[in-house]
Amino acid sequence: MTSPVVIIGTGLAGYNLAREFRKLDAQTPLLLITADDGRSYSKPMLSTGFAKQKDADGLCMAEPGAMAEQLNAEIRTHTRISGIDPGHKRLWIGEEAVEYRDLVLAWGAQTVQVPIEGDGGDRVFPINDLEDYARFRAAAVGKQRVLILGAGLIGCEFANDMSLGGFEVDVVAPCEQVMPTLLHPAAATAVQAGLEGLGVRFHLGPVLTRLQQVPLGLEAHLSDGSVIACDLVVSAIGLRPRTDLAAAAGLQTNRGVCVDRQLRTSHANIFALGDCAEVDGINLLYVMPLMSCARALAQTLAGKPTTVAYGPMPITVKTPACPLVVSPPPQVHEGTWQVEGQGSDLKVLCIDAEGKLLGYALTGAAVMEKLALNRQLPAVMA
Ligand SMILES: Cc1cc2nc3c(=O)[nH]c(=O)nc-3n(C[C@H](O)[C@H](O)[C@H](O)COP(=O)(O)OP(=O)(O)OC[C@H]3O[C@@H](n4cnc5c(N)ncnc54)[C@H](O)[C@@H]3O)c2cc1C
Repeated sequence: MTSPVVIIGTGLAGYNLAREFRKLDAQTPLLLITADDGRSYSKPMLSTGFAKQKDADGLCMAEPGAMAEQLNAEIRTHTRISGIDPGHKRLWIGEEAVEYRDLVLAWGAQTVQVPIEGDGGDRVFPINDLEDYARFRAAAVGKQRVLILGAGLIGCEFANDMSLGGFEVDVVAPCEQVMPTLLHPAAATAVQAGLEGLGVRFHLGPVLTRLQQVPLGLEAHLSDGSVIACDLVVSAIGLRPRTDLAAAAGLQTNRGVCVDRQLRTSHANIFALGDCAEVDGINLLYVMPLMSCARALAQTLAGKPTTVAYGPMPITVKTPACPLVVSPPPQVHEGTWQVEGQGSDLKVLCIDAEGKLLGYALTGAAVMEKLALNRQLPAVMA
């Protein structure tokens, strides 16, 4: 019997690749293996669940059984792979060996955890998949005060959503502005003001040092000496692509699992896409790039080697308190910033020496200009 194409992970990368592959090849055995429950969902919806009044079950789009039928695939849930043996084209699930024709790593990124002193550690919730989200929703029943660690894109989205869900929200982050790696300070100020308008309180600069249980909830002690009363803590301090198993198998890794434009790792029959993949030196943790990769890789797996290209990739940030679309300039290019507009309606452009647009951030009413600007943006990976 032919060994299957094996995909590790049933997030957006794994399931979209399987869908694209099945459009081209209905017969080759396909096996998906996932450490989680295998339910199909759209991860970006995790940060709009309260506003849309959807719990984890409400966000689930299909059960794994339905996905297996739709994809004509076997799906093994709650199954964690523990090793890869590229030389023998097999992987390990504990003691069990599974052979593959081609192996695709779509195992995502894991949340960064920091040690926190005190006895409140079990009240800290990372939210990076549907099961995390279900745990948080269950713990949040009857609670009112949420402390969010991290003021990046995901921390700000959760702050907006949980405020709309009726929570009192504090955000703590050791940076001078929100979304420091994505946004020009002027746009960051507009977004922060929008969130503050909802009642979100920002504590930018200090870190959480100790979390202590008290009779009425938790006390969060910050490095600047201040203390915040809260009931739950959401950790949104960052994601790190999963690379350990790949590195242990001798595959080349850097920030992510290194792959070329055909999504091929340093081993011929092993590919990677999604949050875990560093494609030609670029690791993007967004949906648009993984969709482009899924289409290209499906072609390659179906026998037509295909390279991936990324066009402009603007990000719509889900902070309706201050609408935001951002396309950060590629780091290799030097540009100067221009800020137009005022208040919450800002057009912040990054322009190169020849007057070409390299990137932008649009806030408030200025987001209307995104389509016109997108046409001028350079491709992220031509
Ligand atoms: C709250 C939030 C909001 C977001 N909003 C946006 C947005 O608005 N726009 C946007 O473009 N992007 C957004 N993103 C990012 C986007 O959702 C991700 O880039 C994308 O979902 C990643 O998909 P993935 O399949 O690569 O990884 P994941 O969805 O993390 O899937 C990884 C899979 O691998 C499995 N796995 C891991 N290790 C193993 C193992 N050893 N064995 C077996 N299985 C394993 C997991 O169980 C899981 O099934 C958001 C992310 C978050 C957290």
